[in-house]
Amino acid sequence: MAITIKNEKEIEKMRRAGHVVSECHVRVARAISPGVTTGDLNALVRDTIKELGATSNFYGHQGFPGYICASVNDQIVHGIPGKRVLHEGDIIAVDIGAIVDGFHGDSAWTYPVGEISADAERLLRDTEAALYEGIAAARAGNHLGAIGHAVEAYAAPRGYGIVKGYGGHGIGRQMWEEPHIPNVGDADRGIILRKGMTVAIEPMLNLGDEATRVLGDQWTVVTADRSWSAHFEHTVLITNGDPEILTPRLVGVVQ
Ligand code: MG
Ligand code: MG
Repeated sequence: MAITIKNEKEIEKMRRAGHVVSECHVRVARAISPGVTTGDLNALVRDTIKELGATSNFYGHQGFPGYICASVNDQIVHGIPGKRVLHEGDIIAVDIGAIVDGFHGDSAWTYPVGEISADAERLLRDTEAALYEGIAAARAGNHLGAIGHAVEAYAAPRGYGIVKGYGGHGIGRQMWEEPHIPNVGDADRGIILRKGMTVAIEPMLNLGDEATRVLGDQWTVVTADRSWSAHFEHTVLITNGDPEILTPRLVGVVQ
């Protein structure tokens, strides 16, 4: 299915969905500390989505049992929340989604648990920066490939393993719409981006090799070499100027 152009009413619904996701991230950021379980964070997001009058797009999706994906340390994406206890020095990628009036928001952030190593700090900082490089390339008139190209141009020279096979996507009436948006690519390939398109951009970078494998739970994607991995994602509206982040970080609240 070709990526759809949203009208103003639809965009407003996506903004509202995005804000629900952002508010969930605010509360998750406050809650993360040593001793908390990934299941605690899952319950917090479940309750927040309900409180804000939205519904979850993660829970039950292809049988997924959580309201968040919680991916710790060498886990890249799609970690199932549960009994795992967070420890000082861990990093945890929390991916959150919500639906408002039939439209979806989707945003992931990787958080430190207490004090983390210098390598882990660098990984978080650079993966976040790679996300904003990708977002900056998501402009009307650019090819879709400009997004992955921008992420790759930032991440590859810094020595990270860039995860392939998982990545961004169109988003709107469904969480995962065409096209797939890889985190590598040629800037002159793919469809031409237009005002009103909405996309989720989500680099995943590894401190080690790019190779991945899926655990026996059939969901959790980990690095094959057990190196640590980070994941940052925003839902973004393409405009004729700067892209609009529909899942803005509500900074100032998260302290
Ligand atoms: Mg996501
Ligand atoms: Mg996504």
